[in-house]
Amino acid sequence: MSSLRRFFVDKIIEPLIIEGEEFRHAVSVLRIKENEQIIICDNSGYEYISKITKINKRDFEVEIQEKVLSNIEAKQKVKLICGYLKGDKTELVVQKAVELGLKEIAVFDSQFSSSYINENKLARLNKVSVEASKQCGRAIAPKVSYYKDFKSALESASEYQNKLFACEFATKNEVDFSSLNGSTAIVVGSEGGFSKEEFELSKSLGFKTVFLGKRILRAETASITLSSIV
Ligand code: SAH
Repeated sequence: MSSLRRFFVDKIIEPLIIEGEEFRHAVSVLRIKENEQIIICDNSGYEYISKITKINKRDFEVEIQEKVLSNIEAKQKVKLICGYLKGDKTELVVQKAVELGLKEIAVFDSQFSSSYINENKLARLNKVSVEASKQCGRAIAPKVSYYKDFKSALESASEYQNKLFACEFATKNEVDFSSLNGSTAIVVGSEGGFSKEEFELSKSLGFKTVFLGKRILRAETASITLSSIV
């Protein structure tokens, strides 16, 4: 099924009409035609094999033919919570996290972060997530959320079974990756790294410290590496 083009909607409502960005991508970029088969995804993990019945000026109509459960979504939920980075580095992190099968992504501002995010940048990150999900054939495009307050970012991991905090100034690693089981949240800092207080806060909220070795990795390297290991 992965050879069919896929499009994401927030919700399946029949009759199904696709508009906005997904319409533009389908019609102006991919030049899809009436009667073509496509896959619609609603972030539930299901794929809806569908046929395009009518293309209008600003939307197209779709008839759902079959609903199948995607067989490429990871069984365990993994969430990456990382500091917002300069330039387009966060986009790289989001793209790789999606390819690696993560289910949720969040970015935050922290004491030593030097880059700021706005609504447009957050929308751009969500677009990167959808594009990467399409490219690798996923049925779930992870939502990218933003936490202005670092404590809320940490608390967003409260229902995860394993909570990992990558700390560049840690002296030992508290996590045995080979026995890691269940849902996992990963926290990685921005270019400026973490303060002692932020580290202590992570401890008080039940995070285990991950130490990736004596070399200090760039934030994007640490995010991608830890996502892959988990
Ligand atoms: N500016 C800091 C480095 C920040 S690195 C300094 O000079 O010390 C950015 C983030 O990547 C860190 O906050 C941490 O989450 C992660 N990271 C980098 N190297 C790491 C390592 N060796 N072990 C664990 N985490 C690391």
